[in-house]
Amino acid sequence: PGPAVYPLALPARAGARLPRPGEDAHKGTRGRVLVVGGSRPMPGAVALAAQAALRAGAGLVVAAVPDPAAGLVASRAAEIITHGLPAAADGGFGPGAAEAVLPLVERSVALAVGPGIGQGDWAMDLVRRLVLTAGRPVVLDADGLRAFAARPEDLQSAPAPVVLTPHAGELALLLGTTPEAVQADRPAAVREAARRTGQTVVLKGPHTLVATGGAPLTVWVNLTGNRALATAGSGDVLTGIILGLIGQGMDPREAAVTGVALHGFAADRIAARIAPDGILAGDLLGELPAARAALA
Ligand code: AMP
Ligand code: MG
Repeated sequence: PGPAVYPLALPARAGARLPRPGEDAHKGTRGRVLVVGGSRPMPGAVALAAQAALRAGAGLVVAAVPDPAAGLVASRAAEIITHGLPAAADGGFGPGAAEAVLPLVERSVALAVGPGIGQGDWAMDLVRRLVLTAGRPVVLDADGLRAFAARPEDLQSAPAPVVLTPHAGELALLLGTTPEAVQADRPAAVREAARRTGQTVVLKGPHTLVATGGAPLTVWVNLTGNRALATAGSGDVLTGIILGLIGQGMDPREAAVTGVALHGFAADRIAARIAPDGILAGDLLGELPAARAALA
């Protein structure tokens, strides 16, 4: 048997650790973060993650997307600095993207990699290079997780902490098993992933589990959130929240636990005030400042 699963009680644990900038804060001190992802068919995921990072309190968010996705990301939110990188024929990242992203990485304190990125060869190559050489904390999500499918041990050599945010299907790919096997014993699956990667793993779904990698390996179960989150793009918002918190200086493990709680708490406030059905992932964004303040 592994370690116990601890409930993530609110607000005591989550709120106490939220970054509190002073009145003399400026955008540079609140964290400059980078979101790498997107593709022609899926430009919206990066826009959601980038906006969520700002809503979680990050000072400056840069998006690096393939050229065909740049227009939508830039027009979606005027606050995001958007760079269009070389694309392949499928509308995802293409040859030269890995080199073009490096100067942006150097000016960022943390990265999110994977939202909307697709499954192209150049995209997968870019993901592996970023995670294994950037030297910045990375939130690794969505198709970005495929770059380590059935090779989770490769993540042990990442030079900076990685937070993985798979749903059951993505975790199954990573572990080389089936979604049914993951769902049959979620605590065991998330623990195995944290052990094999040495990193923090967020297994999403109702009652999201967070296994903080390294010793001691601790598993947290989230008590916030509701079916309003069972909608396209809500995972991208979570990725942006965790990125934004890391950007403000939170320990990546703390940011994963706190970000999951904050994401669910924002959804609970919306469900109570409006309704649990018909909520859009983008609706979470405007709720984050008040949810964050209520926790702090
Ligand atoms: P993704 O599958 O990447 O779109 O992420 C979905 C997000 O919504 C994750 O944070 C899940 O934990 C959350 N979520 C999805 N369905 C539910 C549900 N029925 N109850 C609570 N949270 C959910
Ligand atoms: Mg997702």
